[in-house]
Amino acid sequence: MSIRWKSWKELPLGMVIPEPATSLEFKTGSWRALKPVLDENKCIRCLLCWVHCPEPAIERLEGDRVRIDYNYCKGCGICANVCPVHAIEMVMEGGEE
Ligand code: SF4
Ligand code: SF4
Repeated sequence: MSIRWKSWKELPLGMVIPEPATSLEFKTGSWRALKPVLDENKCIRCLLCWVHCPEPAIERLEGDRVRIDYNYCKGCGICANVCPVHAIEMVMEGGEE
């Protein structure tokens, strides 16, 4: 028996993104198990975390300060990994107090 693979043109439509920035409507922070905690005293404002975050979860503020928006942060840890001065620490959700 041979398998006939479908061309992409035969596949049913999966999802339509009708306009840009629809991800802002989906608050994905509840998916998170680990939470990034920022130490503003260590931050050198390089913006690497802002560039690499895959979600709209790091806000760029005046003077290139950054703030984490926990409504969208999924806790992937990329920001903590790219930070050159270890200003972001990943902690267990709820264990940051
Ligand atoms: S943990 Fe991931 S999603 Fe959350 S702020 Fe850092 S890079 Fe963005
Ligand atoms: S990567 Fe680190 S030092 Fe750079 S802006 Fe983000 S928190 Fe600050």
